[in-house]
Amino acid sequence: MSKLLRFKCPNCGKVQDVQGDGPCWKCHTMVTLPPDGVIQIYRMSSCGGIGRSMEIFLNGIRLGILKYDDTIRIPVPYGHYSVLMKFLDHKLSKYKGVGLEFDVTPYNRIVYLKAARVIPGYGTNTTILEPATAEEMRPL
Ligand SMILES: [Zn+2]
Repeated sequence: MSKLLRFKCPNCGKVQDVQGDGPCWKCHTMVTLPPDGVIQIYRMSSCGGIGRSMEIFLNGIRLGILKYDDTIRIPVPYGHYSVLMKFLDHKLSKYKGVGLEFDVTPYNRIVYLKAARVIPGYGTNTTILEPATAEEMRPL
C-alpha cells in the first residue's frame, strides 16, 4: 500500500510518511533520511483484531501508529534496535505491548517484522510481533 518512509522530524518531532529526503511538512526543516537500512513492519490482516491502531515505538521513541492491514517502512542507520508495538486494552485504560530486538547491519539491511493482534477470548487480547521474510510482507 504505502511505499512511503516514516520518520520523526529531528527539529519539531512531527511523525510523518514521506517519499524521501525533503522538507518536514510541519516546520519545513530539510530532512535527510538515513540511507543504511529499513525496518519494515506489516500488520497482518489474517488474524483478528480489527479496530484500534497499534502504536509503534523504536528504541523508546514513539513513531506514530500502524493501522490494520497496513505497512510502514522506517529508514534507519546501522545499529541495534528495539521495536515495541502497543495498543490499548479493551478498557482503554492501559497499554499492553510486545517488543523485539535486532541489529541492522550491512549484512542485514532490511528487517521485516510482522505484527498482529490475536484475540483468543474477550478481554485477553495479545499482540504478536515476529521476524518475517520479504515473501510474508504485503506487496507495497
Ligand atoms: Zn519538522
